[in-house]
Amino acid sequence: MSALPAKLETLAVHGGAPVRGKLLPYGRQSLDDGDIQAVVDVLKSDWLTTGPKIGEFEERFAAWVGARHAVSFSSGTAALHGAAFAAGLGPGDEAITTPLTFCATANCILYQGATPVFADVSADTLNLDPNEVSQKINSRTKAIIAVDYAGHPAALAEMAELSRAQGAVLIEDACHALGAEYRGKRIGGIADMTVFSFHPVKHLTTGEGGMVTTNDERLAETLRRFRNHGISSEARERQEAGQWFYEMVLLGFNYRLTDIACALGLSQLERLAPNLARRREIAALYTAAFRDWTGIRTPAVRDDVDPAWHLYPIRLNLGMLTTGREEIFRALRAENIGVNVHYIPVHQHAYYRERFRTGAESGERYPIAEDAYERLISLPMFHAMTAEDVRDVIHAVDKVLSHYALREHQAKGEHADLLESGPAR
Ligand SMILES: *Cc1c(COP(=O)(O)O)cnc(C)c1O
Repeated sequence: MSALPAKLETLAVHGGAPVRGKLLPYGRQSLDDGDIQAVVDVLKSDWLTTGPKIGEFEERFAAWVGARHAVSFSSGTAALHGAAFAAGLGPGDEAITTPLTFCATANCILYQGATPVFADVSADTLNLDPNEVSQKINSRTKAIIAVDYAGHPAALAEMAELSRAQGAVLIEDACHALGAEYRGKRIGGIADMTVFSFHPVKHLTTGEGGMVTTNDERLAETLRRFRNHGISSEARERQEAGQWFYEMVLLGFNYRLTDIACALGLSQLERLAPNLARRREIAALYTAAFRDWTGIRTPAVRDDVDPAWHLYPIRLNLGMLTTGREEIFRALRAENIGVNVHYIPVHQHAYYRERFRTGAESGERYPIAEDAYERLISLPMFHAMTAEDVRDVIHAVDKVLSHYALREHQAKGEHADLLESGPAR
């Protein structure tokens, strides 16, 4: 880090030297030799898919999150589709979800021919607001899909109560939240079904992959069949039993995760706890470093949770800055900090706007999610970040904010009272 006060530095976007020479991505995987060996071992074995590694990975994963069953899928999206199917979603049904998520959360409702109904988020966590959900719930509501945004668990107790009262199924999209705790308990066995992703930017990777955990044996059985063409037994079971007969009992898909991937997952699971601890450490460093900048709002953490920190999304307090998100985003990228934006609200995507007449023209508004979207910037967050990477991010944010913060807001900490004021424009 430079010894000079940050405000004297010329921004890279204006031709100055960038904080670092090489782009730091917002997220990435980390693999070690043990991971690689585990994959090689499977490649030399009899079973590349639907072999012994699947059951082993599912069992250990279920135990780790504290759920009775875990059913693996070829991606988090396939796992969401499986959960939507197992929840019984079909044409004429509605499922309530958040607009501030990756589009796959809402798409899985459409895969089943059901209708996504969006409800706005709470201003602190950006998770589905129970009051908004209670206004959207009706006799057609068959599921609530709550997302643990950025790794902060949703208001699960309230969501469970709302879904129970309606006879609906609570699906938790925990693709951000593997290892997060809610009221002292790891998520995975709290909602009716909890969905995880093993994409390389997530906490644990299998290349592509996903999992649904549940305590309900019936749901687990449906999920197992759904991911295997709707067939009621697996090839290896039949081979071992010396049988050829099988029955297709429902219309499923081939959403199986390979043994190659499961071996990688098993190996990665061993390091999940220290990786999670590292993410929490990085979040604490960011939050402490940015405490005094009134131009940004760091992520809120409610008293009853311990987040898993898939993302570290800051929100710009636009009234205290001389420019908007676009310029600050570009300035940080120019410093070689791989910032990102999570998410374009789902109802604002072209497909949803055209097909469902959602978005601004429709008069359908989700003011908190839409306002958040205008201010959000995700800073790099992954467990393999070095101390120097973390320092670079903090340096770049200081450098850029020093340039764009209104003069009267440069005095750190004097305007904290303004932080909670509403939309600045
Ligand atoms: C990553 C992610 C998914 C999809 O997972 P894939 O494994 O990429 O299919 C779904 N929902 C959310 C919130 C995610 O972050």
